[in-house]
Amino acid sequence: TAQESQVNCVTFFTTTLEEKIHKEHFLQNDIRKALENREFKLFFQARVDSDGKLVAAEALSRWYRGDLGWSNPSDFIPVAESTDLIIPLGNWVIREAFDELARWVNQGLPYSFKHLSINISPKQLMDINFIPNIKQQLSETGIDAKLIELEITESVVLKDIELSINKLVILRGMGFSIAIDDFGTGYSSFSYLSKLPVNVLKIDQFFIKDVLEEKNQKIIVTSIIDMAHSLELTVVAEGIETEQQFKFLTEKGCQQFQGFYIGEPITAESFRTSQFLTQSNRY
Ligand code: C2E
Ligand code: MG
Ligand code: MG
Ligand code: MG
Repeated sequence: TAQESQVNCVTFFTTTLEEKIHKEHFLQNDIRKALENREFKLFFQARVDSDGKLVAAEALSRWYRGDLGWSNPSDFIPVAESTDLIIPLGNWVIREAFDELARWVNQGLPYSFKHLSINISPKQLMDINFIPNIKQQLSETGIDAKLIELEITESVVLKDIELSINKLVILRGMGFSIAIDDFGTGYSSFSYLSKLPVNVLKIDQFFIKDVLEEKNQKIIVTSIIDMAHSLELTVVAEGIETEQQFKFLTEKGCQQFQGFYIGEPITAESFRTSQFLTQSNRY
C-alpha cells in the first residue's frame, strides 16, 4: 500500500543519512591514521609552455589505502576540509613538496622550470599558523620561495576579501607566486580579480573540455585569456587532452598547458626521472 511504501521510504532515507554520517566518521578516523602511517603520497603533473618545455609541476595528493588501492583527492579532501584534518594534511603536503623539490634542485632543474605548484585549501590559508608554518618549512628545507607557486581557489577569496588580500600580499612579499585555480567555476567576480595580488590564472578544465566543439566555450575561453593578458597575468589551461586543444589555445595566446595530453600525474620517483626533469638544458 501507499502507506507502507511511505514507511519504507522514510526508513530508506534514515538509513542512508546514518550511513553517510558513519562513513564520514570512519573516513575521518582513517585519514587521521593514514597521516600517522604515512599512507599519503604526492603525485606530480607537468605544466609546459607552447614549446612543450617544463615550466611548472603541480603536486597532487593521493592516498594509498592498501587493498582498497589508490584514493583520489575528491574522496578525502572534502572530508579533511570539513574537519580540521586539512591542517595537518596540508602541512604534510607542503613539507613533502619542499623535500621533493630539494631533490630536483640537487639533480639540476631545466632552465625553463619556474615553479613547483601546491594546492592550498581555504581553511588552510585562513589558519593563523599558515604563514609562520610555511616560513619555518622554507628555512628547514632551504627552499627558495621563488620556486613555489600556491594555488588557491576563488571561494577562498570571497569568504573574506580583506583578510585574503592581506595574506596574499605577505606571501607575495616572501617570494611565492600565487595562482587562481579552477578559474571560472566559482562565483567569479571580475571586479575583485584586479585587486588580488596574483600572478597566474588557471582556466578550469570544464571550459577546455569542449572548447573546440562549443562556440560559446570558445568565446568564454578567448575572453578569459584576453582579460588575463590585460591584467598581466600568466594564463594556464587545465585539462588539455588533445593536440587540437593545445594548438587552438596556443593560437589564442594561452601561455601554459596542463593535462593528460602533456602528461598524467605520476609518482614522485617517476616524475624525477621523467624527460620533463631530465631535459639537457639545466641549471
Ligand atoms: P586541481 O588543483 O584543479 O587539479 C587538477 C585535477 O585535474 C587533478 O585531479 C588532475 O589529476 C586532473 N587532471 C589533470 N589533467 C587532466 C586532464 O587532461 N583531464 C582530466 N579529466 N583531468 C585532468 P586530482 O588529482 O584528482 O585532484 C582534484 C582536486 O583535488 C585538485 O584540483 C585540487 O583542487 C584538489 N587537491 C589535490 N591535491 C590536493 C592537496 O594536496 N591539497 C588540497 N588542498 N587540495 C588538493
Ligand atoms: Mg590545482
Ligand atoms: Mg584546477
Ligand atoms: Mg579542479
